[in-house]
Amino acid sequence: MDFLKLTEERLLRYAAITTQSRAGGNVWPSTPCQRDLAKVLYEELLALGAEAAYDEEHCIVYAWLRSNLGPGKKDCPIGFVTHMDTAPDVKGWDVKPWVLRSYDGGDIVLNEKENIVLHAADYPNLAQYVGQDLVLTDGTTLLGGDDKASIAAVMTLAEYYLRHPEVRHGTVCLAFTPDEEVGGLAKDLDLARFGAPYAYTLDGDHLGWYQDQTFHAVQCTVTVTGRSVHPATAKGIMVNACDIAGEFLTGLPKYEKPQYTDGTDGFIYVNSVQADCEKAVIHMILRDFDRGLLDRKHGLIVDLCARLNAEYGEGRVEAVFADQYRNMGEVVSKYPFLISHLRAAIRAAGLEPKSEPFRGGTDGSALSFRGLPCPNLSAGYENAHGRFEFVPVPSMAKNVEILLALCALYAEKGYEA
Ligand SMILES: [Zn+2]
Repeated sequence: MDFLKLTEERLLRYAAITTQSRAGGNVWPSTPCQRDLAKVLYEELLALGAEAAYDEEHCIVYAWLRSNLGPGKKDCPIGFVTHMDTAPDVKGWDVKPWVLRSYDGGDIVLNEKENIVLHAADYPNLAQYVGQDLVLTDGTTLLGGDDKASIAAVMTLAEYYLRHPEVRHGTVCLAFTPDEEVGGLAKDLDLARFGAPYAYTLDGDHLGWYQDQTFHAVQCTVTVTGRSVHPATAKGIMVNACDIAGEFLTGLPKYEKPQYTDGTDGFIYVNSVQADCEKAVIHMILRDFDRGLLDRKHGLIVDLCARLNAEYGEGRVEAVFADQYRNMGEVVSKYPFLISHLRAAIRAAGLEPKSEPFRGGTDGSALSFRGLPCPNLSAGYENAHGRFEFVPVPSMAKNVEILLALCALYAEKGYEA
């Protein structure tokens, strides 16, 4: 089977279907258009002869490729989870994907009419794809290779197994989920129905990379209650929430901020401040890979509030914390075969596995703590969430090879490292 041709055809087809999610709402799925792709995938799976189910209410497609290992061989099911939505950051409708054959290393004109050019000098990641076919946008929208490049790879894996019943494999469970880009955290994925006790999300850029560490994430809202009075007669009476909020902000550690950190360093990010004399509200997120260091950041904010309350009166400054997600490494590291099998599969596809802690969260972080240990394998897209997003076709084909090698390892070794 020609994995290049099959994945390319699929990505072109899926990318043209609008599935942009929406942040800030309280409806799931966040946009009904995601069901358009869900329906296509469900019908395609049925047409291929797969056992599949479509939970239309929650917009989740399930499929199962049952074990054909035969009697006497233990079946160790494994799962793959990909997301159907695209990011709300830039225009995500009216996507017109196209293929540039055999990239020559130069600038790429995405849109002649609007003079939109992907400049090789601005994107050094392009150079490694010289000679390859690239799926691109028309320069006015994102591509949605995040995460449809993975969907194309997983669907091609399913097609391969269904067309080649002689190839032995254990049970492979697939799920296509909504709203990853807006914090959906695959919350409606029914784990019992899904059936695999371990899985991988397929998301992220750079072919051959994987992630088994994510941030611990906490959200914090600080509210300052002031006392407003006419400034002409304010002496000894006014308590200005703006000023106290300012003191709070300058009390935060200066260099533990996103603009000064990378690698495994955490941060406190103040993402909004609203203030007048009467009231100030400060929204922050706290991030760290190490739980102890995150707790230290938490403690620092509590101390800062206490100090300000001692000066301006009890109850003036209040902090409320809410857990968002946790470092999947705490769970994933208990099952070493998840990573040793993955690394071996990446090698089997002729690539050197690479990993770095993911400075964010994944659906896999949430799933891991819900009882489905779930590291992440990269999808192979580049420049995601933007108009210059592209997907090298060979990266998708390689990911099919990686998945096949991974399934072969689970069939052979099961849940043993
Ligand atoms: Zn994604």
